[in-house]
Amino acid sequence: MAKDLYSVLGVERTASQDDIKKAYRKMSKEWHPDKHKGDTKAESKFKEINEAYEVLGDETKRSTYDRTGSTGGPGSGGMGGFDFSGFQHSGDFTDMFEGFFGGRSRQQVSFEGSDREVEISIPFADVIAGAKRTMRLRRIVTCKTCTGAGTRHGSEIVSCTTCGGTGQVTRTTQSFFGPISQRSVCGECMGSGRVPKDPCTSCKGQGRVEETSDVTINIPAGIDTGQTLKVRGEGDAGVRNAVAGDLYVRIHVEPDPLFERDGADIHSRHTIPVIDAILGNTATVQTVQGQSTLQIPEGTQPGQIFRIRGKGLTHLGRSSYGDHYVTIQVEVPKKLSKSERKIMEAWRAERS
Ligand code: ZN
Repeated sequence: MAKDLYSVLGVERTASQDDIKKAYRKMSKEWHPDKHKGDTKAESKFKEINEAYEVLGDETKRSTYDRTGSTGGPGSGGMGGFDFSGFQHSGDFTDMFEGFFGGRSRQQVSFEGSDREVEISIPFADVIAGAKRTMRLRRIVTCKTCTGAGTRHGSEIVSCTTCGGTGQVTRTTQSFFGPISQRSVCGECMGSGRVPKDPCTSCKGQGRVEETSDVTINIPAGIDTGQTLKVRGEGDAGVRNAVAGDLYVRIHVEPDPLFERDGADIHSRHTIPVIDAILGNTATVQTVQGQSTLQIPEGTQPGQIFRIRGKGLTHLGRSSYGDHYVTIQVEVPKKLSKSERKIMEAWRAERS
């Protein structure tokens, strides 16, 4: 039986997404192959951790796993995460303490990469069958020189001298109320307590650099304007191979000249000759799924709407389809031949 993913990360089944992310961050650091050179056991452990996070870190995949996955027992207790309690602040002191972090918020003073948000305009055709789109993006990526390790020539990671390996520094400032001591995250090691002994020169030991690069995203069939795609791990890279941020892609679908969209349903117009409206016929209607044959009954009225079931767009994330609605327009001939006129006049005489 496959190993229980929760126990791989050492978290309870009830763990929050935050706790899972924290546990992953801690464990992936601990078992990073760079720290265990040549140790195949550590390597497979690292792989296992990443695979577990791939599922548990994604709410949709996690709930599928919860329903269908391993029946193994829950993990053996939490691993905890980084302790950021050192720079909690409250109430009136907020402004005073913000200076310590250069105006950055709590989350940003961490190893993790930031999330990114972009907007993309896609042609209507992408929505029909889904598509892959590549976009250029300026973001922080893993340093290629050191593959994110932050070290030069695989040099070792040593205790940070600035904070003595605690990851925190204490600052004392004067206030109206007297001196205030505040512990904050060490800027040198960003709270890890450890720094590369010989830092990579390309990234100054950060394991990440800013650059413009391509990212390919999968556009799922049926997506609509205003919806956002989450692309895991395609935000900013983390410091020295820590968890990367996610990329959020806001979708704008360009309108189509032929098809009007209402969710997964499609509306279009189709023009038939007046004689088909009177006598009935079949019509070939263009749908997003190709041509479809529509029965035009005798006595069809201009503006009448017919539904072609299941010929609309994919319902996002499902295998079912919307419907196609056709509004019938009737074309009246502007000119009649002599014989046509004769027939029509005979018809009029018949009807009066
Ligand atoms: Zn580097």
